[in-house]
Amino acid sequence: MNTIDIQNITTERLKSLTTLSKQVTVDVLRLDKIHPVISGNKWFKLKYYLQNARLKGCDRIVTFGGAYSNHIAATAYAAKLHGFQSTGLIRGEEPQVWSHTLQAARSSGMLLQFLSRTDYNRYKRNISAYTNPGNVGKAYVVPEGGFGQPGVKGASEILETTDISKYSHIIAAVGTGTTIAGLIHKTTDSQQILGISSMKNNNSLSTEIELLLNRSLPGRFYLVNEYHFGGYARYTDTLIEWMNNFYREHRIPLDFVYTGKMMYGIFDMISKDLFPAGSGILAVHSGGLQGNGSLAPGVLKYFE
Ligand SMILES: *Cc1c(COP(=O)(O)O)cnc(C)c1O
Repeated sequence: MNTIDIQNITTERLKSLTTLSKQVTVDVLRLDKIHPVISGNKWFKLKYYLQNARLKGCDRIVTFGGAYSNHIAATAYAAKLHGFQSTGLIRGEEPQVWSHTLQAARSSGMLLQFLSRTDYNRYKRNISAYTNPGNVGKAYVVPEGGFGQPGVKGASEILETTDISKYSHIIAAVGTGTTIAGLIHKTTDSQQILGISSMKNNNSLSTEIELLLNRSLPGRFYLVNEYHFGGYARYTDTLIEWMNNFYREHRIPLDFVYTGKMMYGIFDMISKDLFPAGSGILAVHSGGLQGNGSLAPGVLKYFE
C-alpha cells in the first residue's frame, strides 16, 4: 500500500443520467490514485525541480505556500522520499492550531517558518534576502505552487498516462496555471482545454499561463471563472452536498479546493448544453485529497 506509482493511475468513465441525456461522455483521469499525500498534479510538477536540485548538488529544498497548500505537503513528502532536507516558508503568522497540511509537512520532516505577508512576498521575489541559521547546506528553491518551466514540463507528462486522442475537451482545475500550461503542451489543435479557476478575480492568470507557454494562447484554451464558490479554499453547503452526492453515485472522492469545484462546473456546463452532443470530456482529477483534512469530520461522507 501507499507506494508512489503512476501505474496506479486509471481512466474511468462516469455513468450518469446527465451525460447520457446530453449525449456526452466524461472520463476521469485519476491522478489522485498515485499516493494519498503526493497525489495528483503535484507529483508531476515537482519531478524536474527535484531532478535539478540533485544535479546542482543541493541537499535542501526550500519552497513557499499557505497553511493549506497541497504544494507544501507534497514537497515535504517528495523531498523526504528523495533524501533532501526541506524548508517551507509559510505565508502569515503561525496559527494557534496547525492545519492538517502543516502537520503533514512537519511529520515529513519539513522545517516550517512562518512569515509576515510582507516578508513572504519579499522573499518570494528575492530568496537571497532570506537567511536562516537553521537552514544548513545548499538550498534549491522551488517557486510557490511549483510555478515555472520545470513544473510545466513535469505537468505535460500527465497526459502521457492515458490515450488522449479520443477526447474533444480536456478539463482541469487551475491554481497557478502551471498544470494547465503543461496539458496545453500535449494537446492538438482539434482539442479544447478548459481550466476551472479555484480562485476569484484572478485576472492575471491568463497572462501568466501565456508567459509559461511562451506564446499567446491559442483560441482553444478557456479559463472558466464561474465556479470558485466564493474564492480560494472557500466553499458552500451546495458544493459539499454536491460532492457527497457525486461520491455516492461514482465512488470517487473529490477535494473541496480544486477538483470538487471542477467537477461541479463540468456537470453544470453539461446541463446548460455548453458541450455539443458527441463531446468526449477528459476530467483531470488532480488529487489534493489531503486538503479535505481541514474540514470538520463528517462534513464529507466518503466512508459510507
Ligand atoms: C495545486 C493543485 C491544483 C492547481 O494546480 P496549478 O498547477 O497550480 O494550476 C489543482 N488541483 C489540485 C488538487 C491541486 O492540489
